[in-house]
This record gives sequence, structure tokens and C-alpha cells, in this order.
Amino acid sequence: MVDGKARLVRESFCDGFGDCLPNCPTGAITFEEREAPEYDHEAVQKAQEARTMSEMKHEHPAGGGPGSRMMQFKQNETENAPLNTGKPVSRLAQWPCQIKLVPTQAPFFDGAKLLIAADCTAYAYANLHEEFMRGKITIIGCPKLDDVDYTEKLTAIIRNNDIRSVTIVRMEVPCCGGLQRAAQNALQASGKFIPWQVVTISRDGHIFD
Ligand code: SF4
Repeated sequence: MVDGKARLVRESFCDGFGDCLPNCPTGAITFEEREAPEYDHEAVQKAQEARTMSEMKHEHPAGGGPGSRMMQFKQNETENAPLNTGKPVSRLAQWPCQIKLVPTQAPFFDGAKLLIAADCTAYAYANLHEEFMRGKITIIGCPKLDDVDYTEKLTAIIRNNDIRSVTIVRMEVPCCGGLQRAAQNALQASGKFIPWQVVTISRDGHIFD
């Protein structure tokens, strides 16, 4: 707040973290100074909570599918959860890892064993890094929230690169089936014969046999 005027940030589309401020070279972030009420932290928090609730209702209407049904698991109860003392190591071998962001051709795909994993699997399955990501190139996505059919992108990745194998790790819930379908369609459309497998993770973090 400067002389009764609030400095407002207008953001249209920022690819970064606002590191360029106060002078965004692309015009994605601009400042505007105008009269405004004093910043009210409590009111802002309330408004944010109301917005989140409204978005949740919109995305997951009452009685929504099994993919959005609430569940709680005993395994992480604070008192009982055993402390994991081993220091975990990240097995992510490249960046970016989002399917939407990776290029369709890249040196890291050369001779790669490809892991195509649904976003939620990394949180549901504790040992994803060691059991599935180690030694692989991992790309991830959410077929529900990304709102895109990955088939075309995955086809291009498999077709344009020397991919040795494909592992698809998805959640048990139906909304995750889109990832498996896209990967299988891509394998077929690529015209290549590549060994592949699907692993399904339960909501409480186990592998379905
Ligand atoms: S589609 Fe898969 S990754 Fe996306 S919200 Fe559902 S379970 Fe999670």
C-alpha cells in the first residue's frame, strides 16, 4: 500500500515464478496502482476457502465417482506410523517430467525404459522411486485433470525415440484408465513392438496382482 493506493499485480500468463519482477519482459505480469481498501488477511483467507469449496463442488459433485470418493487410511496415523530412517534418493532422471511438457524427441529418451505414471501414484505408492523409476525415464500426467488425450504425444515419443520398454503405473480408480488407454493406443499407433506392462496401485498404496 503506497499513499492510500494499492499495488495490484496483474498476471495473464506467467511461465516462470515472477523472477523477472518488477519488469516482466513478456508483459505477462504488470502492476496497476489504484485506490483500494487495506489488505484484510482474514477476508482474503475466507474468500480463498470459499473459492476452494466451490471448485471442489464443481469438480466432484455430491456422489461423484470412485475416483473422488473420500477415504482415510490408518497406515499414516501419526502415532503408529513407523519412522523411515533410510534417506530416500530421487530417481527422477530428467526434467521436465510432465507428459504435457516433455519434448517428443530428446537424448534422454535414447535407449530408455519408459515409465508412464499417473500423478497420484507417486503419493499413493511409497516406493515408486526405487521400484519403478530407478533406471527409467519417468513421465507423468493426470488424464482427468490435464483434460487432454495423451495418445498423440505418447505416440510421437515412442515413434521418434529408441524406447526399449514401457511401464504404465496407474491408480485403481476409473479416472486413471485414460492414461492406460492412451499409452496402449500409442504403442499400437507407433507401429513398434515394445515390451510393456501395466501396474495398478490401490488407493491405500498397494500393488494389485
Ligand atoms: S486420473 Fe489418476 S492421476 Fe488423475 S486424479 Fe484420478 S487417480 Fe489421480
